[in-house]
Amino acid sequence: MAIYLCHDQPDLYEHEATVVARRPGAVALDRSAFHPGGGGQVCDVGSIEFSDGVRRVRAVEIESTPDGDRWWHLFADADGDAPDPAASDDGEVVVRVDAEHRLRVASLHTMSHVLNAFVFDEFAGSLVTGAQINGDGTGRMDFDLSAIDNDRLRALAAPVNDVIDRGLAVGAVYVSAEEAASTPGLVRSLSVAPPPTPDGRLRLIDIEGLDRQACGGTHLSNTAQSPRFEITKIENKGKHNRRIRFASTFPM
Ligand SMILES: [Zn+2]
Repeated sequence: MAIYLCHDQPDLYEHEATVVARRPGAVALDRSAFHPGGGGQVCDVGSIEFSDGVRRVRAVEIESTPDGDRWWHLFADADGDAPDPAASDDGEVVVRVDAEHRLRVASLHTMSHVLNAFVFDEFAGSLVTGAQINGDGTGRMDFDLSAIDNDRLRALAAPVNDVIDRGLAVGAVYVSAEEAASTPGLVRSLSVAPPPTPDGRLRLIDIEGLDRQACGGTHLSNTAQSPRFEITKIENKGKHNRRIRFASTFPM
């Protein structure tokens, strides 16, 4: 897992950057606070201000090149009338991450860790088999669970909301791969164990006194920032798989 700018500076929503490559409908920048998504989390959205206008960005795509990763920012209006950025400008731009979208995703993502912690505790180390955190304040997690009463899962919304009320600090820490391997429960996903950073460390998200798990996504800095958490549906997806659908209620 690379260490992204948004990992180092989670509160950075606006910064200057230089265009390093162009193609129809997209530019690559030398730096970007956008989170590119991954592990079930949608990517950031936002905009780039060029000398000849502003273009909305709908997604980031990372291309590996011999010179390192290239962060392509894909324009939302690529198919519309907006011209592609002029090759004649000096390439200095202002990058803006949509803070509301980031907060919605980070919030639900953080609460998915809390939910995961309670499922892990309550159901003897049950692991995650899939996850999706959407930009509209909804999401789902799949757990390797069988033969349990779905009401027990539904009841977990209450302790999750209790964690929101308690206002626990949330932060990232980096540990060595050895330390991670010798600490059970840090990697919760059956399918996707996040890869280590280039220097071999693993990024863990620590929720004060409650949970620690490997993750490369975006999160809140305190659980009190989250709106109320709701479990909207539980589905049985095969013999060993329960899908919990959930949502955050945001004031619009
Ligand atoms: Zn996470």
